[in-house]
Amino acid sequence: MAGAPVLILLGPPGAGKGTQARMLEADFGLVQLSTGDLLRAAVARGTEAGRAARAVMAAGGLVSDEIVLAVLQDRLAEPDTGQGIILDGFPRTDGQAAALDALLAGSGQRVTAVVSLDVDDEAMVDRVSGRYTCAGCGEGYHDRFKLPAVADFCDKCGGTAFRRRADDTAETVRERLKAYHAQTAPLIAYYQHRGVLERIDAMGSIAGVRAALAAIAGRVAA
Ligand code: ADP
Ligand code: ADP
Ligand code: ZN
Repeated sequence: MAGAPVLILLGPPGAGKGTQARMLEADFGLVQLSTGDLLRAAVARGTEAGRAARAVMAAGGLVSDEIVLAVLQDRLAEPDTGQGIILDGFPRTDGQAAALDALLAGSGQRVTAVVSLDVDDEAMVDRVSGRYTCAGCGEGYHDRFKLPAVADFCDKCGGTAFRRRADDTAETVRERLKAYHAQTAPLIAYYQHRGVLERIDAMGSIAGVRAALAAIAGRVAA
């Protein structure tokens, strides 16, 4: 496991972290770890962590570091993560960043690169409120920016059931943006200081951002 790449995608809700992480996973053989997905799975299963996280997530706040770290550590213990990981939506606080460093140091690893997806807040309200995913395979779509090639059929799996997240409302996304600016954006300076930060203008097209990310991943994770 030592030396396997650890990429972090940093950015507010709607920046395109999940969309890009799924493509990086396919292109570079890395494993996407989304703490949002892990927490939603815990909520759906009704675990102790899920019961504690549910109301905070619905209100657009940040779940406690303790709970987030617990679900992430469980997932990291699975063997497929040994080939390298893309962290999507983690870390989101100073405490999480420090805990990640300690966790990686335990297996002789370190953060390879952190990519900040830079975007405007107002555009994020549109991106998040139009977002939906395939219920079968999790592929992400958007009402205006990314429709399936054949209407109502998932491009990836052909599924016809789609869903929207309960917290993807214009009101909740404003709370989530506040949490991002207060607690997560300071990590940009933290990683810049460490010399591992890359920035991408993520206001461009999905394909444009993908190309910029592939250039970075090709350098650090190939
Ligand atoms: P995040 O994981 O950062 O919250 P997502 O990857 O889920 O963001 O993207 C949010 C929504 O915006 C999705 O509906 C996605 O299809 C769409 N989207 C992602 N990247 C772009 C982009 N560069 N331009 C326009 N829409 C995008
Ligand atoms: P998005 O990228 O659209 O903000 P996520 O799926 O990453 O959405 O996160 C959804 C919610 O899950 C967040 O609003 C927050 O309540 C919780 N969450 C996810 N990751 C973390 C984290 N690393 N720390 C604290 N809370 C988190
Ligand atoms: Zn699908």
